[in-house]
Amino acid sequence: MQSVPPSESRPSKLPNAEKYEFFKVIQGYLDQAAKLVDLPAHVRAILAQPKNEIIVNFPVLMDNGEYRVFKGYRIQHSNILGPYKGGMRYHESAGLDDFKALAAMMTWKCALMGLPYGGAKGGIKFNPRDVSRKELSRITRRFFHSLGNNIGPDYDIPAPDVGTNAQTMAWALDTYMNTVGLVSKQDVQGVVTGKPVASGGTLGREKATGQGLVHCVIQWAKRNRFDLKGKKLMVQGFGNVGGNAAVLLSHLGVSLVAVGDHTGYLHNPEGFNAHRLQQYVAKSGSIAGYANGTQITREQFFGAAADIFIPAALENQIGPGEAEALQVQLVAEGANGPCSPEGEAVLKHRNIPVLPDVLANAGGVTVSYYEWVQNKRSESWPLEEVDEKLERAMVDAYDRMQQFAELHKCDYRIACYGVALERLKKVYEEREIFP
Ligand code: NAD
Repeated sequence: MQSVPPSESRPSKLPNAEKYEFFKVIQGYLDQAAKLVDLPAHVRAILAQPKNEIIVNFPVLMDNGEYRVFKGYRIQHSNILGPYKGGMRYHESAGLDDFKALAAMMTWKCALMGLPYGGAKGGIKFNPRDVSRKELSRITRRFFHSLGNNIGPDYDIPAPDVGTNAQTMAWALDTYMNTVGLVSKQDVQGVVTGKPVASGGTLGREKATGQGLVHCVIQWAKRNRFDLKGKKLMVQGFGNVGGNAAVLLSHLGVSLVAVGDHTGYLHNPEGFNAHRLQQYVAKSGSIAGYANGTQITREQFFGAAADIFIPAALENQIGPGEAEALQVQLVAEGANGPCSPEGEAVLKHRNIPVLPDVLANAGGVTVSYYEWVQNKRSESWPLEEVDEKLERAMVDAYDRMQQFAELHKCDYRIACYGVALERLKKVYEEREIFP
């Protein structure tokens, strides 16, 4: 494949990106599934909107001595099943509409997985790569301080997402701990999950989302007599989810042949060493400059010869054009909402199955739950125990999705929403609406 200059290889946004209404898309899926489970109109109306939309503006002292005011969000969609739960995203394009969509998806995800959590999402609209480490620490601390009692270990429990990681959670934990009285410090360790292990995190959380995704791919492969060995993989977004999924799939004989991130796209038909690429990205922050691949354009990336595609970057990446270009036999959604409805319609027409985000990336929140339980009990589980529990949870959820899809003759995405809504519907029927 021809090499292209770096500027041309940079990812471009989809033409409709400005107009993309992510929350409306999610509401559309909710409506489709609501019909299948006869969701009462008032429950549909409650779940169609988040319960709380929190916006905080807070000043941060920057390294140059000036103050900059940041806008932070925490959208709490539902807590009918348990405390609000969901990641914190730092990204220059993240806004209220995205957080509302992502918060709702957390409600469906936790309900599908049978976790005692509701859904939330939040973050800050800025590019974390534009600030120093010290500034990042101060921004995080001021953000979590501004949120005050809007989060808490039994109320709303953040975790990492795009642009945040275990270090972010360590700063968040430290900030929160310093706002409670001296005696309560250890009681609040579960206020965030995805922490570094030494600070109360769990073994297995770092790779959990990628691991859960791989369990789903294995389930799909088993049920469709698809031999994973020797298959080719393409991954968009080589961060926590994409990187770990690629490494874990490489252990099953699946080779990474095309990869992209915010700096551009690379191709290697012989296969990248996913583990080495992950180490490279950990050091340099992106795939840019990695020697063992040829630079390609975003368009070339989507048309690459491969068997499995894992989108693991952002929402709205697979529109009709990308869906038409893809040569793969399976799309496994690591990212939340990577397929637009129009893109998904093309994939459906071309008989390319999609393992939907609500299930496929639920490994992260599932292991976050294990972390939270360990914090509550002052326990540290061995990695094998976490891994075993996660595998069982993913396989069970896959079964629930499959059964719903067969019974209602719907696609996997609507099946995931359907299973989630059945659980929520039952709880609303039992508890009714206060007062
Ligand atoms: P991350 O910050 O670790 O990695 C994000 C990756 O996406 C990076 O490689 C970045 O370069 C790339 N990217 C950003 N903008 C891009 C663009 N315009 N084009 C191409 N690539 C781009 O984030 P992550 O935690 O791996 O999250 C990725 C996706 O997975 C998100 O949709 C997130 O909501 C979802 N997710 C994450 C978790 C988790 O546990 N981290 C859990 C469930 C779902």
